[in-house]
Amino acid sequence: MVQLINSINWACVLEPIIAEYGGKKIELDYETSFQLLVAVILSAQTTDKQVNRITPPFFARIREPKDMINISLDEIMEDLKYVNFFRNKSRFIKETGVILATKYDGIIPDDLTLLQTFPGIGIKTAKVVLSVLYDRPYVGVDTHIHRVMNRLGIVTTKNPEATDREIEKIFDTETKKKLHHPLVLFGRYHCTARKPKCETCKLQEYCKFYKETIKKPL
Ligand code: SF4
Repeated sequence: MVQLINSINWACVLEPIIAEYGGKKIELDYETSFQLLVAVILSAQTTDKQVNRITPPFFARIREPKDMINISLDEIMEDLKYVNFFRNKSRFIKETGVILATKYDGIIPDDLTLLQTFPGIGIKTAKVVLSVLYDRPYVGVDTHIHRVMNRLGIVTTKNPEATDREIEKIFDTETKKKLHHPLVLFGRYHCTARKPKCETCKLQEYCKFYKETIKKPL
């Protein structure tokens, strides 16, 4: 009973940032579904800006999974050499493209578990891609979302994977459909790692970090 009285409706608390950032799209540039998948794979440990800087020449010749069949790994690495871990990422992209082209008719499967069996596709990448392509109720937890969720006190977790599991339990389907981009953008531009803009934050009154660190009780 006590727990019920004290429990916070986090979906309501997050409404202001959903309203502010909800209309925005993913900040990775792409035209085809496969290019989106490639961009999301490349964005691990790399900023979206850097991915967008290097993908135009690559995407000019790589549009669909079948384009991966005749391109060599060396050519891919040459195009992608300015992103972190480009060797592994190039190999993942090549192998995933070939599997999609030869076994899935070039279509990215709308299946979270199946997608995670592809080379280089973990839960975050799979959830981002499925939420963008198929409007699935998934939140792809990156470092921004992990930080924001812990600062607010919605979760107390040590890594993004644990945050992902908590999000699955805390929010309903409709809320999860709306959360991914707002949380990423809020973490990227407002609740930043080094200098969160707490003074102008609409979530202040609920935020554990703010209450414990910025506005300490007298
Ligand atoms: S009050 Fe500060 S730490 Fe809390 S969510 Fe807002 S910006 Fe982030």
